[in-house]
Amino acid sequence: MICIFCRIVAGEVPAEVVLRDAATVAFLDVSPLADGHVLVVPAAHVARVEDLTEDAAVSLFRAVTRLAGPVRAAVGAAGTTIGINNGDATGQTVPHVHVHIVPRREGDGASSVHGIFRSGPRRPVAEVGMAIRGRIAGSAD
Ligand code: 5GP
Ligand code: ZN
Repeated sequence: MICIFCRIVAGEVPAEVVLRDAATVAFLDVSPLADGHVLVVPAAHVARVEDLTEDAAVSLFRAVTRLAGPVRAAVGAAGTTIGINNGDATGQTVPHVHVHIVPRREGDGASSVHGIFRSGPRRPVAEVGMAIRGRIAGSAD
């Protein structure tokens, strides 16, 4: 097994595990962006969010909701930034779905999600909305 997160789920590689159930494991990031930076992963290997089964997705987000408060409180933070790098183009370095929970403080110097992107010309939202609804209806990926 070469996936590092599969190896952590299997207990073959040590990690600071903070929550585990049959479908989900959460552990501290080895290179934390802030104290308390947690990664939440499905137990079964899946590279991208869109490939999760419905049950795996429910378990994953249930774990995120259970963890958000305790992670924040444990390190005395004011909030958490919760995010997923989903696909190579986003900077995802481990191809096993993982939700980052990163504790935040006033004035910590990090930006919001909006800070990732440059503003610029965009296609009309109605046009893009229609395209997305069409893909959902066709179940295309
Ligand atoms: P990504 O850039 O793919 O969204 O994030 C991958 C995260 O996994 C990084 O924050 C990185 O520090 C973390 N990571 C990579 N390898 C390991 C490991 O072996 N153990 C732990 N606990 N975290 C890891
Ligand atoms: Zn894996």
